[in-house]
Amino acid sequence: MRAFNTMLKALGAIALTAMLAVAPAASAAPDVTASLRPLASLPRPGAMPDGSTMRRIQERGRLIVGVSQDKYGIGYLNPLTNELEGFDIDIAKAMARAIFGDERRIQFVAVASADRIPLIQQGRVDMVISTFTINAQRKNDIHFSEVYYMAGQKILVHRDSTARSIADLSGRRICAPRGSTSAKNIVTANPHAILVETTEFTDCLVLFQMRQVDAISTDDVILAGLARQDPFARVVGTSFTAEPYGIGISRDQADLVRFVNAVLVQMKSDGSWRRIYDRWFGAMGAQEPPRGTYVD
Ligand code: GLU
Repeated sequence: MRAFNTMLKALGAIALTAMLAVAPAASAAPDVTASLRPLASLPRPGAMPDGSTMRRIQERGRLIVGVSQDKYGIGYLNPLTNELEGFDIDIAKAMARAIFGDERRIQFVAVASADRIPLIQQGRVDMVISTFTINAQRKNDIHFSEVYYMAGQKILVHRDSTARSIADLSGRRICAPRGSTSAKNIVTANPHAILVETTEFTDCLVLFQMRQVDAISTDDVILAGLARQDPFARVVGTSFTAEPYGIGISRDQADLVRFVNAVLVQMKSDGSWRRIYDRWFGAMGAQEPPRGTYVD
C-alpha cells in the first residue's frame, strides 16, 4: 500500500511538472485584443500622407462614423440639444481632430448592434465606435483598433427583484439586442434563461418597463446608462464576461487602423482619455486607460 502511495505521489509530481511545463505556452496564447502596431508618429492634421485612407477622408471633407444614438453617456442623441453625446462620441471627435484639426468634420451614422460589421464591410462608414467588443470571430470580418475601454457584462433587474446574478434568472426572460455579444453571453451563462432579442437597447428598456422581460443583460456601462433613465431599475452582481472595446475598421484599411491606434496611444498618454472618462463614466470611480498590445 505504501509503495502504491509513493507511486501515486511520484505520478502527481510528474503531472505537476508537466503542468508547469505547459504553463508558459498557455500564457502565450494569442491575445485577441492585439491590433496593428500604431504609426510611429502622427501626420499633422490636414496633412495626411498621399495615397493613404486618411488622405481620402481628408479630401472628402468629413469622417463618417457609425455610432449608437440610444446609449446614455456613450452614444446618445440628446433630445434637448439634438446633438449626439457621450464617451464614444468624444472618441470619434478626437479622430476627426487628428485628421482635420476640426472635430466638427464628422458625419455620424446611427448603427444598431447587428449593423456594425455589414456597414463597415459595405464601406458605408470609415469606422464604427459603438461599444464594440473585440473578439476572434469578428476579427475574421473586420479589423479592430487597440482596446480603448474594458467593460464587462452584468444584469439589470427591477428594484423589487431578488435576483442577484444571471444564475438566478432561470426560466426568466432576459433582453439583449440581436448581433451583440451580450445575447450570446446570456445563453452561455444561463442556458435555462429565455433570451429575448430586440434591435436596439431602448427596445429592451421599453419591454423591461412594460414587465415583458425580467432583466436586461449587457455591458456594465450600457446598463448604468439605462439605470439612470429608470428609477425602478438597478444593476446587480459582478461582471461575468470581459468586453474589451475597439474601433471597427475595414480589413482593407490597415493604414487607418495604425493611424487610429496612434491617436489612441496619444489620448491615453496626454490625459485626454482620462478627461473623457471622467466626464462620462467618472461616477464609476477613477480608472486607468487600458494598454494596447500589438502584432506587426
Ligand atoms: N459590447 C457588446 C457587443 O459589442 C454589446 C454592445 C452592443 O451590442 O452595442 O456586442
